[in-house]
Amino acid sequence: MFENMDRDFVLHSYGRNYIDFASAKGARVYDKNGDEYIDFTSGIGVVSVGHANKRVSEAICDQASKIIHISNLYLIRPQAMLAKSLVEKSGFDMRCFFANSGAEANEGAIKIARKYGEEGGVVKRYKVITLQHSFHGRTISTLKATGQEKMHNYFGPFPDGFVYAKDLDEIESLLDDKTVAVMIELVQGEGGVEPLDKEKIAALCKILKKRKILLIVDEVQTGIYRTGEIFASNLYDIKPDIITTAKGLGNGVPIGVVMTTLKDIFSPGDHGSTFGGNYLVSRVALEVLDILDEYKNSGALDEFMLYFERKLKAFVSEYPDIVEKEVGLGLMRGLRIKRGELLTKIIENSFKERLLVLKAGRDTLRFLPPLTICKEEVDEGFLRLKRAFEKIGSS
Ligand SMILES: *Cc1c(COP(=O)(O)O)cnc(C)c1O
Repeated sequence: MFENMDRDFVLHSYGRNYIDFASAKGARVYDKNGDEYIDFTSGIGVVSVGHANKRVSEAICDQASKIIHISNLYLIRPQAMLAKSLVEKSGFDMRCFFANSGAEANEGAIKIARKYGEEGGVVKRYKVITLQHSFHGRTISTLKATGQEKMHNYFGPFPDGFVYAKDLDEIESLLDDKTVAVMIELVQGEGGVEPLDKEKIAALCKILKKRKILLIVDEVQTGIYRTGEIFASNLYDIKPDIITTAKGLGNGVPIGVVMTTLKDIFSPGDHGSTFGGNYLVSRVALEVLDILDEYKNSGALDEFMLYFERKLKAFVSEYPDIVEKEVGLGLMRGLRIKRGELLTKIIENSFKERLLVLKAGRDTLRFLPPLTICKEEVDEGFLRLKRAFEKIGSS
């Protein structure tokens, strides 16, 4: 009944699986019949402190009973506290703007870059260089920023000024006097979970700094401890001019942030959002950050990242005919599958074994488990994945 309702009334922009989930706890999700699934996706890197997290639920209930929204025309105490927390935990000397999604955070980043490229009322520099296979969002400009031509069908004309580099090495040759920024993901989420090379990134940072070209790091997926530090930029030991983040910050309440060292780039009226950073989402995000900060400081986060990595490495040695290698950082991981058609089969088999996993690019099995996933959940998930692998031949 609800499946038909969905088909009849919701636009068909997703290739939906019609499983009907009803509740969840930690890394376990239950469908309407009570069947249990292990979630190695966290709703695409969103539910970072686990489903139905008690502290998050309490923060939501408490805040909802007081005040949810008042607009950005007035002081929003938890928003100020969240900005302070993000800045202090990251160690970057920045200010924050709050939006509602990753794409919107990236829109903000592009606007900051464009304004930075203005001189005496004229936009002198406007070009933003991004990487092939990148993913930056679905709005008209973030879609154009996304370096995957196949996604650009139907939706033009696009705003000008996006240039794609085929890899990090090509970026320098594309810089010209119209270039204002380079935007990258340190680990491409949709593009195949391959971390960028640390030394090459350091070299790129130097070149950009010298030419006063901004570095925008899209941490929509890598951010909020997903790779082991609050931002992957901390792990890479770089100082971006702009960082965007979103997915894991709200544990499911919609929030996006753009942070920048250009503290005075905007004047009142330059940018805005009706919902952005309201009481509810800011309060929740503050709670998520506190939980993850404690988890990181206790050593548990690093311990589980290693545990998960060991499990993946075991798969590489156990299935050398199927798996080429293990990729990724922290709890943003992948198994590169030797034949693309096997990947679809593995994902289907996993689902039958009641394990939720993702795909990245053409040939990567992607894992984004909750960051607070426990040992039993990891073990159970890998047991199911093993059964899914074993069934490849017979199915
Ligand atoms: C998911 C994602 C986005 C888009 O975020 P939305 O919240 O879906 O708009 C942008 N950049 C990266 C790297 C992402 O992973």
